[in-house]
Amino acid sequence: MQEFLIKDADVILTMDDQRQELSGADILVRDGVIAQVGQGLEATGETVLAKGCVVTPGLVNTHHHLYQSLTRAVPGGQDALLFGWLQTLYPIWSRFGPEEMFVSAQVGLAELALSGCTLSSDHLYLYPNGSRLDDTIAAAAEIGMRFHPTRGAMSIGESDGGLPPDSLVEKEAAILKDSIRVIDAFHDPSEGAMVRVGLAPCSPFSVSRDLMRDAAILARDKGVMLHTHLAENDEDIAYSLANFGCRPGQYAEDLGWTGDDVWHAHCVKLDGQEIDLFARSKTGVAHCPCSNCRLGSGIAPVRAMRDAGVNVGLGVDGSASNDSGNLIAEARQSMLLQRVANGADAMSAREALEIATRGGADVLNRPDCGRLAPGKRADIAIWDVSGVESAGSWDPAALLLAGPTQVKHLFVEGRQMVREGHVTTVDLPRVIERQNQLACALQA
Ligand SMILES: [Zn+2]
Repeated sequence: MQEFLIKDADVILTMDDQRQELSGADILVRDGVIAQVGQGLEATGETVLAKGCVVTPGLVNTHHHLYQSLTRAVPGGQDALLFGWLQTLYPIWSRFGPEEMFVSAQVGLAELALSGCTLSSDHLYLYPNGSRLDDTIAAAAEIGMRFHPTRGAMSIGESDGGLPPDSLVEKEAAILKDSIRVIDAFHDPSEGAMVRVGLAPCSPFSVSRDLMRDAAILARDKGVMLHTHLAENDEDIAYSLANFGCRPGQYAEDLGWTGDDVWHAHCVKLDGQEIDLFARSKTGVAHCPCSNCRLGSGIAPVRAMRDAGVNVGLGVDGSASNDSGNLIAEARQSMLLQRVANGADAMSAREALEIATRGGADVLNRPDCGRLAPGKRADIAIWDVSGVESAGSWDPAALLLAGPTQVKHLFVEGRQMVREGHVTTVDLPRVIERQNQLACALQA
């Protein structure tokens, strides 16, 4: 039995069912699970002092393309809309291989961890030059992040009227075969799982209707989740109307892409009927505010979604369209955007943090994560509020109004992944050096 105590936190924002906030409180962790939360606890093992700190559940990232951390701020894509942005980047991505996938995933996951994230999904939808989903799973295992990789895919290339170059698309039979392989090899349905695999055809404009339907059938057969991009911007809606004769919500519903085992990224342009459909069917949404700003896509109707009862989580989206991967900063952005759209009382700092923790865990069907309560996994972020960002704050627990954007300590399954602001599990300066070498080689 391995036990340790997080002791004397200024505030613990539990995000439990009562949304309790405890002052001067402790968390007892035993074998990777939270044993107790409360005042005056004692443990046999190590003590982590949390005086001067706010403690929250680890943040949950519901949408990312980790490989894109190798193509941040590419000049030709800096100011383009979605489709033009993709066409600039596709030829660069087509030169990636297994090492690019591994190193970029480690960089992306380290960046997330430092910003408080303990559980991340990833959407990898291109597999050039022998790359495999396995490369990112190996990266996450080494760095120690709880990981929900999705086996993405593109099957309609330029010659068939799609957007991606033919060199980046795969045959649909091969996509399904590899999907089965990675589910059988890596998917863990059990409580506390460190890896769960999902299926994620890239978007309605890069795969066929048949692949969307077949992926849904396979996912249900295997008991894994489904994920894709949906209703991202006006071009996306226009494409759906022109090519499918319906809006994205209808397209998703017709092909089996609604339900509590489905989550869609962006959903910036969902209308009222589609929001009702998502609420009724318990379909989840990965809200990516910085990416939506960066690509000029618009403001997702998160207030309306939450009011209707839609499960909404937060995502940083790929590092080529953010181009940062800081999840606590993303949460602040989501709060600010809802205020731009709906007024200053439209989204509190605590509600945005709830979306970033418990909300994301619910979207990914992880009720064992995203809250600090007995029996839940010990995924814990500790924020130092004794520094300059919080100085003068009357409410340090309102982290998204005034607070640090990097964690002091981070635990995943009770294992310390960040200590005193440094990643403990990999030699991060070396990983960064290698990433920069690979980025230079891609520019040559
Ligand atoms: Zn995306």
